[in-house]
Amino acid sequence: LKRHSKFAKLTQEHVTFFQDLLGVESAVIDGLSKDASEDIEAFNSDWMRKYRGHSQLVVKPGSTEEVSKILKYCNDNLLAVVPQGGNTGLVGGSVPVFDEIVINMQRMNKIRSFDEVSGILVADAGVILEVADNFLADKSHIFPLDLGAKGSCQIGGNVATNAGGLRLLRYGSLHGNVLGIEAVLPDGTIVDDLSTLRKNNTGYDIKQLFIGGEGTIGIITAISIVCPQRSPAVNVAYFGLESFEQVQNAFREAKNQLSEILSAFELMDGRSQRLVKTVTGKKRPLEGDHPFYCLVETSGSNTDHDSEKLQTFLESVMEKEIVSDGVLAQDQTQLQDLWSWREGISECLGHWGGVYKYDLSIPIADLYTLVNDTRDRLTKAGLVGEDDSYPVVDVLGYGHMGDANLHLNVPVRRYDKEVEKQLEPFVYEWVQKRSGSISAEHGLGIAKKSFIGYSRSPTMVALMKQIKNLYDPNGIMNPYKYI
Ligand code: FAD
Repeated sequence: LKRHSKFAKLTQEHVTFFQDLLGVESAVIDGLSKDASEDIEAFNSDWMRKYRGHSQLVVKPGSTEEVSKILKYCNDNLLAVVPQGGNTGLVGGSVPVFDEIVINMQRMNKIRSFDEVSGILVADAGVILEVADNFLADKSHIFPLDLGAKGSCQIGGNVATNAGGLRLLRYGSLHGNVLGIEAVLPDGTIVDDLSTLRKNNTGYDIKQLFIGGEGTIGIITAISIVCPQRSPAVNVAYFGLESFEQVQNAFREAKNQLSEILSAFELMDGRSQRLVKTVTGKKRPLEGDHPFYCLVETSGSNTDHDSEKLQTFLESVMEKEIVSDGVLAQDQTQLQDLWSWREGISECLGHWGGVYKYDLSIPIADLYTLVNDTRDRLTKAGLVGEDDSYPVVDVLGYGHMGDANLHLNVPVRRYDKEVEKQLEPFVYEWVQKRSGSISAEHGLGIAKKSFIGYSRSPTMVALMKQIKNLYDPNGIMNPYKYI
């Protein structure tokens, strides 16, 4: 990959323009000056510390007008940019590849309005997901998306990646929940489509291009989103199972018996749970070791009714020998502890140094076969082992069972070309053969840039390129990434 020579190189004159425009000293981190070169590091490297760019400038706009002026100036001067939210993305999309200017959205963090009757929230893109959800909790509502990075990721970043998360099963995708978007195009045009209507069939639904667009056609500055009523009763069960066949049976039973109160059904293999135990040293929720674990959450309006339903479900699946052992959270602390065995996996995976991550949609019957096939392949190649001479620590899988979304993960002691060669394109070919998707919810970023063809036909890729060229003819928006 080479830096495009058409892009201008940052000069002191450019920096001065941004400093004058934004006024606030902390809104510009100027890497050209020696003092700031350390501060800029965090914006140049991603959450996994796998991708690292060399930007010399971070700008933090405080309003939509400022975003517009920044982009117009960059477009006129052929300065490439990368939009950045909470920088928790897992495909290297949020950091520069070369010297692109980072446009970080953290200062645009205001809730604009909330309608308690319709449940519609309008907020700036830079609001942290957890902050939005806590605001909604006070109003007995819930953000229709939840994920492990909620304390850092931003709702604009969530929309830009079309994040799926832990409750998609219940509340559906952001393509349905986001009602409106305010965005800025590279030429500075402000696209005001911040509709708060649930129904609006008036021509093309252009906002959908920004949802999951990964910052390649414009910057989202605000969203409006419909938020469900918060369920007063939330219950969680965690159980161990002996085979993936039984996991599928348990999922069917859960849909059947828990129906309208089922809000999450998550899968964790035994290896992922052992790994969390090794890293955190916490006491495991169940005795013994099972090849698979599931976490089931229900959300409803009546605690007694719901916990009785979940209790009956658990008894029934144990009686039918679908589930070997299980536990129901007795209080809030235990509920959070059970969730931490699922949500904590991502963080623990990095413990040994690095991790190869694959976020895949696979027809459910075959979902876990890929983990076994990948482990066999790496083992045969002599790359997996317990001591430091082996690069691979383990090969494991977990994910959103309810959405047939597998996270295949290979924690490693060091990033290694030989491991990469064994994994790619093997994983993508495997998924393509089963008509799955090489990116279920994380996007393509730079990590999957070369692999889009495994999930999209040449016609679809050509249509995407047409849209990219139409909105961003100079190609300044998040260049070198998937499109
Ligand atoms: P960033 O990482 O900053 O950016 C992501 C992409 O969006 C980049 O391409 C960036 O250029 C673009 N972007 C950011 N903000 C804007 C904007 N305002 N306008 C235009 N483009 C923008 N994802 C899931 O889907 N489900 C999960 O369950 C899940 N769990 C996770 C757990 C952990 C511990 C971590 C670290 C990540 C997880 N993710 C998950 C990844 C997920 O994509 C991100 O956490 C989140 O959606 C990205 O938000 P962000 O604000 O951090 O965006």
